[in-house]
Amino acid sequence: MKVLKFGGTSVGSAARMKNVAKLICDGEQKIVILSAMSGTTNNLIEISDYFYKNNISGALEKINILQQKYADVVDELYSSDEYKSEAKLNLKNIFEYLRSFSKSVFTLFEEKAILAQGELLSTAMFHLYLQEIGENSILLPALEFMRIDKNAEPDTAFIAENLAKQIATQPDKMIYITQGFICRNFYGEIDNLQRGGSDYTASLIGAAVNADEIQIWTDIDGMHNNDPRFVEGTKPVPVLHFEEAAELAYFGAKILHPTCILPAKLANIPVRLLNTMEPKAPGTLISTKSKKGKIEAVAAKDGITAIKIKSGRMLLAHGFLRKVFEIFESYHTPIDMVTTSEVGVSVSIDNVKRLDEIVNDLKKFGTVTIDKDMVIICVVGDMPFENIGFQAKVVGAMSEIPVRMISYGGSNYNISFLIKAEDKRRALNALSHALFN
Ligand code: ASP
Ligand code: MG
Repeated sequence: MKVLKFGGTSVGSAARMKNVAKLICDGEQKIVILSAMSGTTNNLIEISDYFYKNNISGALEKINILQQKYADVVDELYSSDEYKSEAKLNLKNIFEYLRSFSKSVFTLFEEKAILAQGELLSTAMFHLYLQEIGENSILLPALEFMRIDKNAEPDTAFIAENLAKQIATQPDKMIYITQGFICRNFYGEIDNLQRGGSDYTASLIGAAVNADEIQIWTDIDGMHNNDPRFVEGTKPVPVLHFEEAAELAYFGAKILHPTCILPAKLANIPVRLLNTMEPKAPGTLISTKSKKGKIEAVAAKDGITAIKIKSGRMLLAHGFLRKVFEIFESYHTPIDMVTTSEVGVSVSIDNVKRLDEIVNDLKKFGTVTIDKDMVIICVVGDMPFENIGFQAKVVGAMSEIPVRMISYGGSNYNISFLIKAEDKRRALNALSHALFN
């Protein structure tokens, strides 16, 4: 069985929903995961914000605007009055539910319940549409089987067991539709897998049912070899190793949520990135295969801060790195890049919430220097150390760019540079020119 996930833009209008229906109704049994219609989750966050601020009329005004938007979609999506009125009844219930929050105290718990409505809306509407056109589909409630544990990590055993139960009640349906993003937490409350989490849902479900393939459908024809917002003439990369895709997703390729790779990789299920606007295009296939010796793509991650800790005492000392890393750990701040020399260490972080406290503690061990507004440029490909020449090529491409840190050897699949944000466009273009032209 295949698992297919369609993102917000792919279900962003009545026409787009009809297009998805055309793509999936091919007589093969499948699980289909939908995001909320594009913009909806942001709208729901805005509504929650009004509730938080106890501006009830503001919240109600935003709710009314959103309801009208959905009513318009309903009018366009269904052809018969019967289905239109059923869909409108469902809208009415969900929007009444949203309005009901004006009567309660508003906390994170209520916000999460509100955020879940986007996916509940899109999947209910889509399922009803498939019913109208006579498809054999069923809606599987994600809140019955998607669960995270105490540490907010997916409870994979629970997911597999309960999803299987849900499917077993209706074994001969062709299309199982379910919500991306939403889940319950350890306490049984409504929760979610963080923004963009529908990709993660797809990958977790793919692993849970041991799918033949996980397909992530978006509106771009695969993962590109560079960022199309900064570089002209970028091309989709046909084949990527799980590790390569993980680096790219983490270091800036917006098409895929970085958490999505791990469950698929562990279960060894290929992930295919496809384009709803161009369904015949090959897209990108992510699996255990890579193109031997090929540099595949470049990505950039913004908003990076570099911290250098220089210590005369590091010379021949052991335990210095541990002390440094422990400080970051104690402030729950993950480190992205690390470079070391005999007299110091540089690290990069993207979360600067605790920076002042971190720097304060680091000063016990050495002289601390900070560089803000930096960018990580990540070059990804099959680059085992036995191969020669690729570092020279990559570093050569960066010859005109001031480089603050370089990192290679953490994996066989990437070389990273830390540079100033102002040099990002130049660096991305220089790399594309040298590596892909
Ligand atoms: N609707 C959620 C969001 O906008 C989840 C997703 O689209 O993946 O973040
Ligand atoms: Mg997404």
